[in-house]
Order: sequence, then C-alpha cells, then structure tokens
Amino acid sequence: MAAKPVDPWNTCLNTTLEEEDKEVFAIVENEKLRQWSGLELIASENFTSQAVIEANGTPLTNKYSEGLPGARYYGGNEFIDELENLCRKRALAAFGLNPEQWGVNVQPYSGSTANFAALTALIQPQDRLMGLDLPSGGHLTHGYQTNKKKISSSSIYFQSMPYQVDPATGYIDYKRLEENAALYRPKLLICGASAYPREWDYATMRRIADQHGAYLMCDMAHISGLIAGKEAISPFDFCDVVTTTTHKTLRGPRAGLIFFRRDKGDDLENRVNQAVFPSCQGGPHNNTIAAIAVALKQAASPEFQQYAKQVRANASKLADALVGYGYKLASGGTENHLILWDLKPQKLTGSKVERICDMVHITINKNSIAGDKSAVTPGGVRLGTNALTSRSMKEDDMVKVAEFLHRTVQIATKVQEQAGSKLMKDFVAHCDGNEEIAQLKKEVVEFARSYPMPGFDATKIKSTVTI
Ligand code: PLP
Repeated sequence: MAAKPVDPWNTCLNTTLEEEDKEVFAIVENEKLRQWSGLELIASENFTSQAVIEANGTPLTNKYSEGLPGARYYGGNEFIDELENLCRKRALAAFGLNPEQWGVNVQPYSGSTANFAALTALIQPQDRLMGLDLPSGGHLTHGYQTNKKKISSSSIYFQSMPYQVDPATGYIDYKRLEENAALYRPKLLICGASAYPREWDYATMRRIADQHGAYLMCDMAHISGLIAGKEAISPFDFCDVVTTTTHKTLRGPRAGLIFFRRDKGDDLENRVNQAVFPSCQGGPHNNTIAAIAVALKQAASPEFQQYAKQVRANASKLADALVGYGYKLASGGTENHLILWDLKPQKLTGSKVERICDMVHITINKNSIAGDKSAVTPGGVRLGTNALTSRSMKEDDMVKVAEFLHRTVQIATKVQEQAGSKLMKDFVAHCDGNEEIAQLKKEVVEFARSYPMPGFDATKIKSTVTI
C-alpha cells in the first residue's frame, strides 16, 4: 500500500527538537555547556551514560502499563512486560540477590515516592517510625518535622521520632537510638541518609528493630552504586525492605526502586507492589525503566567496580587534602563518596561558600552540620566525588580540586570582611567585579573542560551563551 501523506497539522510530529522548539533546544545546549565547563561536586548527582540517556528518550514514553508484567490494565504490553522483567532481573543481579529471597519493584518515579510507597506497604497511618534526623544527615522522607511543622508526608501521615548523630563525633549515636526506641517502640526503623560520610552498623539497627518487632528498611539512595560496586556493606543481609534512587552513585536516570524480602512470610511482595500501584502511583514511566535497565547492566560490570573504588579513593583524597589545609570535616573524614565540610571554624556559612563556588563553576550544596544552631543558615557544605569520577578524575585531580575549594573559602572570607555585615545581600553585592573570582572561574573552567564528558559530545554543543 502506498504511504499516506502527513496531515499539515501533524507535521510537527516528526521534526527534531532543534527545528521544532528553539527555546527548549537552547536551554538543553546551554545546560550541557554548564555541565561540561564546571566541577560537579553535588553528592546526589552524577553524569549518566549516553546509552542511558538514549533509552530515556525513547518512544517507550508513549505506553501505559498500569499493573505488573503479565497482569496489566492495558493491552499492547508484550514488549513492556519483557522490559520490566529484564529490569527486575538486572536489579537483583546488580546487588547479588537471590530471586527466591528478594524481589524488586522498578516502577517508582523517584526516591521520595519509593519511600512513601515503602512506608505505605510496611506500616499503618499514624504508626511510629524512627529515621535519621535531617540536620544529622537524614532525608526529608524519613519522617522529618520541625517544632512548628510536619514537613514531610512521612511525618504528616505517620508519627515520627528521629535519631541523631553525636555532634561531638559526627557518628550515629546508636546507644541513644536504642534507649529512645525502648521508650518510643517504633513499628519501623529506617537506616540510610543523604549526608552521612560513614558506614552503617546494620547489625545493631536490626537488633534494635527486633527488640520491638519493627521492620528495618534501608534507603541506600546515596550509596547504592558503592554497594553494587562492592565498596560498601550490603544492607540486604539485614533489612526487610531496601529503597534507592537510581541517579546518584548508581549513575542511572532519575527514578527509584523498592526491594522487598520474599522469604519473610508476611507478604511483603504484594504489599509493596500494591503500595506502588494503585496506592501511590499510576502508570509506570517505561522509558525510564528502560534507562534503569541499562544503568543496572552497567552497574553489574567489573568496570563499575573500578569506578566505585575510584569514587571512594577520590573522596578520601579530597578529604585528606582539605584537612591538610586545616579544615574541619564532620566525623573527621569519609568512608564513602561524600564529605561534610564544617565551615563554622572559618566563621562562614555554607550558603556563602556555595555562592562563591557557583560564581566560579564549582557546584556544591550548603548542608547543615550536626549541632548547627539554625537550619536556615547551615554551617557547612556537602561534597561528593561520584560525578567527577565519571569524568575520569583521579586522586591527583582531587588535590587540585581541594586547592580550588580552598581558594573559594579565602575569597568568601575576604568578601565577608569587605561587606562588613553577615547579610547575604551585602555579601553578594561585594562579589561584583571581584578579580579573584574571575581568575578562579577561568582556571576552573579550563581545568574542567580538559576532562572527558560522559553522555554527550562536548565538541558539538550549540550553546547560545558563553561561560
Ligand atoms: N532518599 C535519599 C537518601 C536521598 O538523598 C534522596 C534525594 O536526595 C531521596 C531519597 C529522594 O530522591 P528523589 O529526589 O528522587 O525523590
């Protein structure tokens, strides 16, 4: 049969992004330029591979597939079923799990929705949970609330009492956690964090959970790449449910996973699957599931183990170099990919150092340090080496990165003195025309651009801005 013509109102359906939407295209290209030209030290980010980006941008986005493989609410899912089964198989393989003991749901849209679905599966509304306090490095979704407000849905729909790190050591105070759990009698204990540079004592957490017949869940979002790469202790030997994002050290697309024990005897499999759909979500994002599958294949490779090892070696070197400049790190150093840098001895806030770093194309984030007086002006910053390691940087490069960071602190100190006030607006006003900032930016950009760029060809960027 002869091919039919395209309706005039449908011609936009087969044009490239560049042809179709110059504004969005320019934003994407400018963002590529920014990523290539800077030092990405945000501990929760990474540069995913070209294959992952390609899978994420496929027509799989067109398909509805509510339900699970073999039991969908829509027709036409034969290939989507194959994809989701492949992704589930790869997820178990990447973490060395026996399919008779563990199952996984690969549909969560993100880490936060994975966590809320896991809570929905494990406990009842208003049941009690304990997670690491946000100012101690925990995530919002682990029950965060303040004196004035229940911030996260995990504290709005459940009762929450946090545990904390000992501000003197920076390590989790397991003794106090055990004492408080004895009084609070939680139904769920959550381990895992967004800003904790040390290993977890899962055996102790399991023992405390068992004292109260509580479930133990680990949110391994930050360290899942290190666990897959065998560079961190596996929580699977201790926990009932394990959640993760897929886009941090694991280096996949933005999404979440929920692993559940199949051999525990209280139907966690059905409870988790139903909590994801229909309780918390609708149709899965199949393009994302394809990209997760690709990332998991990569994460199971020997090369990924080398990557994970280098991430830790880089973090350790960066920590040593900062300590060498006389800086204070929470807990004194790191055992994983991240560093919590306490800037209070320098009389600077995390926000000011973050601001100078932004101006010189070093991307970091302000972070509270245990013992900070105010959560609004955190006393430190968080650094992670996962993204720079994806750009093939090694220990020697971390020495240079530490020197750049040291210079940002020196600049911030001078600017704060010149501003003569602690206010951010005065600080920013005094950065205008600062020659040291301009010089440092030039050096950082030149340094960053000399390293390979994962995911896309940096020589073909069509940006509309200059950096
Ligand atoms: N869990 C932890 C430990 C995290 O650090 C984060 C995000 O940083 C999340 C969950 C939430 O992930 P998402 O932003 O994908 O919702």
